[in-house]
Formats: sequence, C-alpha cells, structure tokens
Amino acid sequence: MNNKQDLKSYTLTELRKIFEENGIKPFRANQVFEWIHNKNINIIEDISVLSKKLKSRIDNKYYIENIKILERYDSKLDGTKKYLFCLNDGNIIESVLMPYRHGNTACISTQVGCKMGCKFCASTKEGLIRNLSAGEIVDQIYKIQADQKIKVNNIVLMGSGEPLDNYDNVIKFLKIVHDELGINLGYRHITLSTCGLVPKIYDLANEELPITLSISLHATTDIQRKNIMPIANKYSLDEIIKACKYYINKTNRRITFEYTLINGVNDNKKDALKMYSLIKGMLCHVNLIPLNNIKEVEYKKSNNINIKGFADTLCQKGISTTVRREMGSDINAACGQLRNKYISQNQG
Ligand code: SAH
Repeated sequence: MNNKQDLKSYTLTELRKIFEENGIKPFRANQVFEWIHNKNINIIEDISVLSKKLKSRIDNKYYIENIKILERYDSKLDGTKKYLFCLNDGNIIESVLMPYRHGNTACISTQVGCKMGCKFCASTKEGLIRNLSAGEIVDQIYKIQADQKIKVNNIVLMGSGEPLDNYDNVIKFLKIVHDELGINLGYRHITLSTCGLVPKIYDLANEELPITLSISLHATTDIQRKNIMPIANKYSLDEIIKACKYYINKTNRRITFEYTLINGVNDNKKDALKMYSLIKGMLCHVNLIPLNNIKEVEYKKSNNINIKGFADTLCQKGISTTVRREMGSDINAACGQLRNKYISQNQG
C-alpha cells in the first residue's frame, strides 16, 4: 500500500491524536473509527459522513486494511468453520469460528508462523514470517462476522503465533475490540494464550486489562518441558508460576493452564500429581487438550483411559478441570495445520 498507514490498526486514542496533528478535528476520528470498526467499512471513499475534501485528504496518507477470505471449510461434525485468509503481501493465515452454546467463539492468529518451536505444533514448523498488524488481527473477526452474518461473542488468541511475541500490536488489538465505538467486547470475553514469555506476562498484568490469561504449560518439570518447548530453556516453571500469581493478584482473574496430553510423554498419574503441586492454591482452571495428531510431528494423542485418569486425579484434588472437546477434526481445525496443507498443495 505504498507508504500509506493503516487506519484499522489505530486505537481510538491514537487516531484522535494523529488527526489532531494533521489539523483534523478529533470528533472526525470518532466517526472514522466507528465506520471502520462498527460499520465494517474498508474504503475511505465509503465513509459517507465525511466531506469529499476530507476523504481525499485522509486518502492521501492512509488506507484501511482489508484481508481476503481465500477458503472456508465447514465441519460437518460440529458447525466449526475454518477460514484461510490472504493478506496484502500474499501471506496466508487461518482462523476458526466455533459456535458454542454460550456464543460464537473466534480463534484468531497473531503472527504469520511462529518462532517458539513447540515440538507438537504445526504453526511453528517454518518459523516466524512476520507479526500481524493490529488491523490484520481485528479484521479476521470482522470478516468472519460479515461472512456468517453473526456477532462474535468471544475471542481466543490461540491461532497461529505467540501473542506476547507481538506484544504492542496485540495490546492495540485488545483496546480496539473493547472500544464502545467498535464491537465493544468485554475484556472478560477475550482469552490470550501464551507459551510463557515471563517478562511480558508482567507487562500484561500491569496493563490491567482483565482478559483471561491462558498458559500453555504442557509439562510439569523443566526437563520434561525443555524436551517439547524450547522456550523452557529461557524461563523455568517456577518463574512462570510466579508471574501467574502476580497476574492473578493484579487482575483478580482466574488463570487457565492448558495441558496438551501426549501419549507416553506427559500423561500419567505422576504427572497429574506434579501438576497439582505446581498450581495448588492458585485461582485457576485446567484445560486438558488431547493432542491433535498432525502429520508433521512424531507425537501421538493420549488414550482415553489416560486422559480420564489425568482429569480425575486433578478433580479429586479439588482443581477445576475440563477436557477440551475436539472441534472440527474433519477440517484440520488445529492451529497451523490447514495453512501448511494449503501451502504444500499450492506450491510450485
Ligand atoms: N502461542 C500461544 C498460542 C497458540 S497455540 C501458546 O503457545 O499458547 C494454542 C494452544 O494450542 C497452545 O496451548 C498450544 O500449545 C496448543 N497446541 C499446539 N499444537 C497442538 C496440537 N497439535 N495438539 C493440541 N494442542 C496444540
């Protein structure tokens, strides 16, 4: 887009500031913000509340991000819909819409690829390509809403990418979707999932945005964690737990620990008991995720006896625990799988 800046990536506060700097009245920023984020307008020319002159002044310096739906796959099993989006530079990202009883949940991406290198995850296989802008993150929601003619009620940042590795844009995104001139989503309806970038967990706590923080734990000792998650070489479990306690104190929000059960790696009763001693006494919830078998990795999903045994052990100890339902298993709905498949089929 030449050297033009994207209007969709600004928070309302930023937009008011840059309009003022350009000699445009700040109330115009409110109008532009509302038309972009509430009325889903993607072309400056279409903001009909502005004069022709003002539109052309804005158009000289700015554009509005507008990602394109490349493909949509509908699960016949559970109503899950998976989207592949094409970005302006030709990169591809994916998002998932899951219609739950308590509302429509969109799982969206924050980066193209990921550099965290978790051994069981398809998104990270080719490394990080680039961060998404706030506009590209939020546009996934708008495109899903427009395509399905629905309102998204919950957002989970659990698609491709590590949200805390794209910190500034993710914070902007949170402020944009929370804004009452935008889709006005409560922070409590947003979950951010991280593999545990400890300093950023402190930063996030200090923002005092009461979103749900979800930690991808997946192991109960540092040695075990290092085998499957390279980030464990940088931050220990003790440091993560300490940061989580700080987050809980600061926000008064319950943390979720995600734990992917991998056959023979982290799924026996001893692991469950170690998990209990790590997290006991904390305001938390455990979400057990049966591993999605993906062709890129050697790990396999735990069997049902171990999954149930793990959940029962934690429940008996008084830890609130759920086993995640597998959604969209017929459409490669787990992170990164679909993009990889699409790219390998369309290469060359
Ligand atoms: N980078 C963030 C968010 C993206 S992944 C994070 O690490 O939390 C969202 C969740 O799916 C994480 O808990 C991740 O570890 C998990 N995940 C990745 N690949 C998986 C797979 N093949 N099966 C089950 N869960 C997986």
